[in-house]
Amino acid sequence: MPSVFTRIINREIPAYIVAESDDFLAFLDINPLVEGHTLVIPKKEVDYLFDLDDETLAGLNLFAKKVAKAIDSVSDCERVGVSVVGLEVPHAHVHLIPINSVDDMNFGRMKLSPSKEELATTAKRINAAL
Ligand code: AMP
Repeated sequence: MPSVFTRIINREIPAYIVAESDDFLAFLDINPLVEGHTLVIPKKEVDYLFDLDDETLAGLNLFAKKVAKAIDSVSDCERVGVSVVGLEVPHAHVHLIPINSVDDMNFGRMKLSPSKEELATTAKRINAAL
């Protein structure tokens, strides 16, 4: 059965897409730690990030770099933090999180539930900065 992220790639379920290339996709986390929290994925469905082939892993990082710079430029943050968890969705992904403190990267804290309109506005702002 395809992962929820593959279903997003195939446009079977909606997502707030920030950037796309032939091999990678970036979209907003639906329950962000902070506004602008973005997930970057390879279109190739592989569960564990470090099982990706070298070319895909390197490409994912370069794609994430572009997206992180766009997030940084439109966010009120000190920098964009990077995290890999992968305990919930078995499709390799990197979290990009605009942070001002280490607590902004605390995955144990209460996540946000922005409205569809808020997510759409945030995705548009990041996309426009690419
Ligand atoms: P983890 O696999 O532990 O890195 O967590 C997966 C992340 O994906 C969580 O932060 C979820 O909020 C997020 N997530 C799960 N389903 C969706 C979805 N349909 N659209 C956007 N983000 C999602």
